[in-house]
Amino acid sequence: MAGTAVVGANWGDEGKGKITDYLAGSSDVVVRFQGGSNAGHTVVSEYGKFALHLLPSGVFHQGVTNVLGPGVAVDIDEFLKELAELVDRGVPSPEVLVSERAQVVLPYHRMLDEYEEERLGARQFGSTRSGIAPFYSDKFAKTGVQLATLFDERLLRERVGYALEIKNVLLKHLYGKQPISEDSLVDRLLAAARAIRPFVTDTTAFLREALSSGKEVLLEGQLGTLRDPDHGIYPYSTSSSTLAGYACTGAGVPPNAIHEIVAVVKAYSSAVGEGPFVTELAGEQAEELRGRGGSDGEYGAKTGRPRRVGWFDAVATRYGCAVQGATCVALTNLDVLGYLAEIPVCVAYDVDGRGLTEFPTTPLLARAKPVLDRLPGWLCDVSDARRFQDLPAQARDYVAFVERVAGAPVQYVSVGPHRDQTVVR
Ligand code: GDP
Repeated sequence: MAGTAVVGANWGDEGKGKITDYLAGSSDVVVRFQGGSNAGHTVVSEYGKFALHLLPSGVFHQGVTNVLGPGVAVDIDEFLKELAELVDRGVPSPEVLVSERAQVVLPYHRMLDEYEEERLGARQFGSTRSGIAPFYSDKFAKTGVQLATLFDERLLRERVGYALEIKNVLLKHLYGKQPISEDSLVDRLLAAARAIRPFVTDTTAFLREALSSGKEVLLEGQLGTLRDPDHGIYPYSTSSSTLAGYACTGAGVPPNAIHEIVAVVKAYSSAVGEGPFVTELAGEQAEELRGRGGSDGEYGAKTGRPRRVGWFDAVATRYGCAVQGATCVALTNLDVLGYLAEIPVCVAYDVDGRGLTEFPTTPLLARAKPVLDRLPGWLCDVSDARRFQDLPAQARDYVAFVERVAGAPVQYVSVGPHRDQTVVR
């Protein structure tokens, strides 16, 4: 059995899509295990640049089976739209399976997400308004709808009718909107069920069989450690666990199937959405880093929002890798830092005059100020490097610094968004 989890060690947007696509070249199966269409995994493949939202990042490799596990929030319209878009843009139709146990994002999840952010106004969480928080709330409150239920009209009507008793009160009385009719919702869901049916199967049995026959299985996470609901910057977290520890549950494989945990770490920090962000830059420094970051500047792959950017945060990354249980690190966006003569890195937090090196809880984090050190920059373009020795000494030293922080070997260094801009050590 050989399962490898590819997970974010920071706030998300580390480049998991690029690393998963790279590793998918030598894998048989790629599984998304949590989150939904609020993700934005950017992959630059031979077919062009794509921002994948719900589909696993193995879809550009023929011969790879892509799975949406039971832990994923399946928005059927978005799923079908994304798949059609890939094929329209010339990607050979990928093999995709969707767990019959996964639950469905319902139209009122999107509505409630949007109306709640509107209601909160200045206090909003920065949700992508894809319905993810209401979806997971319903899942754990046992008012959700599993995909399998869509194929049993009587049961579907019963589930939806029960949920609408609550949702319509909220829609009408909290948000002042029109209630939803049970008949029109059920009709819409039955049509969606017909469209997604060819993809729906028992993926847990499929993965058990794949693992026992020695297939390589990648488990692709969404967002990163610091957005985990238990271990992240609650309440500025996402609504499902972003950790390798959850990958087995969300994908439907046993814990002992996961042998490698690749923590994806970004060479600087970036975050979308609200919440404390200790190394955040403002003004010209932020503009410069944002403009140079990622494949086309640091703008959200889902929303196009400018991402908040800051220097590398050793406190957050050490914690991020430890909580993931990193067995190795993929360090991305190293090329982006080539414009700096000296690279500031945050080595500790100052909280009320005390130096902290352990990542604190949200109330302390909000008062933390970065303690910065400076590492020598390399002042050149490293995006053509393909071997570790091609990197200048200062860049190799930066990698060694990240490795000490992460407590795990940096096995992959990404020097650009393209698949081949990857240095394997
Ligand atoms: P994900 O959600 O973790 O997959 O990350 P995103 O796709 O949201 O954001 C990562 C951004 O960085 C995307 O624009 C990628 O194309 C880009 N990217 C990934 N690795 C590298 C790299 O090594 N260098 C540069 N310049 N861009 C990268």
